[in-house]
Amino acid sequence: MKEKSGCGLKKNDLFELTIEDIGSEGEGIGKYDGFTFFVKDAVTGDRIQAQVLKVNKNYGFAKVVRILTPSPQRVEPMCPVARQCGGCQLQHVSYAEQLRYKADKVKNCLVRIGGISEPCMESILGMEEPFYYRNKAQFPVGCDKNGEPVIGFYAGRTHHIIATETCCIQAKLNRCLMKTFRAFLKKYAIAPYHEEDGTGLVRHVLTRIGFATGEVMVCPVINGNSMPHATELVEMLQQAVEQYQKEEQYQQEEKYQTEEQHRREEPYRQAKQESTVYHLTSVCFNINKEKTNVILGERIVPFFGETYITDYIGDVCFRISPLSFYQVNPIQTKVLYEQALTYAGLTGEETVWDLYCGIGTISLFLAGRAKKVYGVEIVPQAISDARENAKLNGINNAEFFVGAAEEVLPEQYKKSGGTMRADVIVVDPPRKGCAESLLDTIVAMEPDRVVYV
Ligand code: SAH
Repeated sequence: MKEKSGCGLKKNDLFELTIEDIGSEGEGIGKYDGFTFFVKDAVTGDRIQAQVLKVNKNYGFAKVVRILTPSPQRVEPMCPVARQCGGCQLQHVSYAEQLRYKADKVKNCLVRIGGISEPCMESILGMEEPFYYRNKAQFPVGCDKNGEPVIGFYAGRTHHIIATETCCIQAKLNRCLMKTFRAFLKKYAIAPYHEEDGTGLVRHVLTRIGFATGEVMVCPVINGNSMPHATELVEMLQQAVEQYQKEEQYQQEEKYQTEEQHRREEPYRQAKQESTVYHLTSVCFNINKEKTNVILGERIVPFFGETYITDYIGDVCFRISPLSFYQVNPIQTKVLYEQALTYAGLTGEETVWDLYCGIGTISLFLAGRAKKVYGVEIVPQAISDARENAKLNGINNAEFFVGAAEEVLPEQYKKSGGTMRADVIVVDPPRKGCAESLLDTIVAMEPDRVVYV
C-alpha cells in the first residue's frame, strides 16, 4: 500500500481548499492543514473542491473539480481555448489582480533576493485593455488528426498544437493572415513539418506588424530552401490584407456614425490603432533545417518587398527584421521607455550607457535628450541594425559596440585608467540578469543614476 504523505492525502483524494496566492506559473496556491498545494486555473480567493494529482514531501499538485465559491477576481477568459493553450496563464484572472500579482512579484524579489526590507515602489503602469496588443507572432504549423494543416499555439508543456487562429492577444489582423496561410497550404498541398521524423516543409509562421506604420511582414519558417507557389502566397496575402482593411473601415464607419462622434473619438482611435492602414510590405522565408526546438534559423531569403518592416516608438523610427529583438507590446513599450527617460532625468548634458541595447531602441529614444549615448549588445546583426536606425533618424550622438556588456564596459573602463564616467547607465538584460563583473564596474563608475529595465 502506498504511504500517505505529510498532508494525509493521496492521489485522487477530494478535498476543499481556499486559494490564497498565485504561483510563478500563474497557478493558484492554497494550504490544506498547513500543506501547500499548487492548483492550475484556480484564482486567489476561490474556494474549490480539489482533487490530488500528486503529493511530494513538502508540497502537492491538485486540479479544480468544482468551484464552490468563485473569487471576486475570477473572470471569464476572452479566449475560448485559454485553458488548453500554453500561451496565456492568467486570462481567468481580472486584469487588476494580474497587475497586483506582478507588482507583488517584483516586490518579493527585492525583499527576498535583494534583502531590501521595505522597497519604495511606485504603482504599476498597466494598459487600458490587455488584448490585441502583440506586434509579433510565431505560430507553429502542423497537421490535425485528419492530416489537415493546423496553425495555433502549443498546449502547455507539449508540442500538441491548439488551433488558435483567433488569438486575442495578437493584432487582430493575424486572424486573417493565418486563415489565408492555412488556405494556401491546403490549396497547394504543402506539407507542414513533422517534428518526429523531420519531414515536411513548413514549421512556423512569423508575423510582424508595425502598429504605427501599418507595415505587415509574413515570414514562414521552412525546412527547405524555397517555398513552392510563393507568388500565389503573396497574392493571397495581399488580397486578404486589403479585404481586412475594407471590413475594418466599414465597421469603424458603422461605429462612428456621426461626424461629431468621429471627431471626438479620433485621438482614441489613433491610440488603439483603429486608423492604421495595413499593407503587406514583406514576405520572406526563414530557413531552418535543424532538428531543434529553436524556432528561427539564421538565413533569411527575401521574396517580396523588404526583409524588414519599419515602425515608430514615439518619434523614433526603427527597422525591424525577422531576427531582431523588438518589444512585443508597442503601447506599453512607449510607456516603459518614457518611464526610463523620466528616471534617467536627462537635461541634454549627460553621457549615457545603454547596456543590452538590442537594435538601439532605448539608446535612440534617449539620444535626443542626452549629450552622448553608448549602446552595447552581443548580437552583431542587432548592432548593425542599431547603426542603421541611428542614421535613419539622423541621430549622430549614439555609438554602438558589439560584445558582451560584462566585457565591453569593464574593458572600456580599464582602458580609460578608471577615469571613464557615465551620468546614467541603463541596463535591460535578458532574464538571467547582469553579470557580477558588470555590476562591479557600474558601481566603480559611480553614475548618478542607474535605470534597470
Ligand atoms: N533594450 C532592448 C533589448 C532588450 S532584450 C529593447 O528594449 O529593445 C536584451 C538584449 O540583450 C537582447 O538583444 C540580447 O541579444 C542582448 N544580450 C544578451 N546577453 C547579452 C550580453 N551578455 N551582453 C550584451 N547584450 C546581451
